Amino acid sequence: MSPAPAREDLLPVSTGNHCLFCGSRDWTWVYLLGNEPDWIKQLGWTFGWHVFMCDACHDYYEGGDDASLVRAHLNQPEPEADESEAVQWVRVVRARQSEPAIPRAEAIVPGVDDLVREGFTPIENLTGAHELVPLQATFALLMVWALATISRSFGWLAA
Ligand SMILES: [Zn+2]
Repeated sequence: MSPAPAREDLLPVSTGNHCLFCGSRDWTWVYLLGNEPDWIKQLGWTFGWHVFMCDACHDYYEGGDDASLVRAHLNQPEPEADESEAVQWVRVVRARQSEPAIPRAEAIVPGVDDLVREGFTPIENLTGAHELVPLQATFALLMVWALATISRSFGWLAA
């Protein structure tokens, strides 16, 4: 992997991510993975610069309850990792975590969650990008506001 980008290049993130372990789209924490110990470079795979967690998995993670994290992953209908891989996932996240978990509200474009609650899909969720460069973030926010305003004025919003 190339050196970790600057922190400001990793934030804000898209709301359209999901919990690494249980797969919930209702993620509430983001972890920045700025560390790259040598043993991880030799794995042949790793995560990107972020992983996301829901409240329940964040609690397991912060409480050191790795077994519950692994179980949360394996309880999904179609887990991506098997048990030994999921155990490794936890180890990799712990080794790469470079700062305390960031709450969702501090990691996303301000205002986007309110619009999501109103039924809008932020444009960045359609791109699959994990993070937004500042210009994209500004653009995404402008787009959701524009769409919200337009559809409100035309009465398209299904209340
Ligand atoms: Zn979870």
